[in-house]
Amino acid sequence: MPSAPPDSVAGMAPRQQDAQLDLPGMPRRLFAATPSKLATFADCPRRYRYAYVDRPAPPRGPAWAHNSVGAAVHAALRSWWELPVGRRTPGAARQLLYSHWSTAGFRDAEQADRWRARAAGWITDYVAGLDPTDEPVGTERQVAATTERLALSGRIDRIDQRGDELVIVDYKTGRAVSTDDEARGSPALAAYVLGVRRTLRRPCSRVELHHLPSGTVAAFEHTERSLANHVRRAEDVAADIGAATAARDAGEDPDVAFPAAPGRQCGWCDFRPSCPTGQAATPPRETWSFLAEDDG
Ligand code: SF4
Repeated sequence: MPSAPPDSVAGMAPRQQDAQLDLPGMPRRLFAATPSKLATFADCPRRYRYAYVDRPAPPRGPAWAHNSVGAAVHAALRSWWELPVGRRTPGAARQLLYSHWSTAGFRDAEQADRWRARAAGWITDYVAGLDPTDEPVGTERQVAATTERLALSGRIDRIDQRGDELVIVDYKTGRAVSTDDEARGSPALAAYVLGVRRTLRRPCSRVELHHLPSGTVAAFEHTERSLANHVRRAEDVAADIGAATAARDAGEDPDVAFPAAPGRQCGWCDFRPSCPTGQAATPPRETWSFLAEDDG
């Protein structure tokens, strides 16, 4: 899937952050990571290089229709919670969806209009099931946490208060219905739990995927063990990123330090236009091809 924008620390280029070496007697420098940054490297080190190391970054490919749908739904739900309580109605959600709508990536205006109506239906049904007085603790809230080797950060769609605990809510708009296994296995959701615990200093274990097209919720209750497993995997990826970056800085051919991992994902990779390996691996996908199969 298209990658998130690169992260940076003020005054320091991303490549420099990643290439810092630990000095004797000094505290270990933490690797600044977001879930999308780690996922990008895990999917394809070459794609990580294009997104986070090469400057200027190579141009990205075209926008995707399914991302336009997701962005509009997320923005509309954030705006809906920003309304005064009395105006948080299903009709207002529909209007907000319209105002945030983009036609980028759709085949034509007819397809975009049809999907706008479909997404408006999802969001109308979804907010009809919400209590508008049940104020979230946060929407699109940035949180951060540190582990032994990582400075993790991320932005959470919604944080709910349920009794004494905070719950992570992540909106999904893809065609596949979310599952409890997906909630359990998501590195991003695990990072959000750590971030909420650290940033808001409140108990938090439960993560939920709210799939708007089906109106279903998938969930998982994290344990210390499940979180530790996620941290270990994230730190392993970060160590691989550090090794690749150090090799490149020591003179290794960047194509060797950050090898391509061609596969089906090359069909929708943002950096396909700059990647001969990906172009040879698989044909490009049409930018509306991730919409539901029942799309006419
Ligand atoms: S096109 Fe494929 S091989 Fe090239 S950067 Fe993207 S995912 Fe990696």
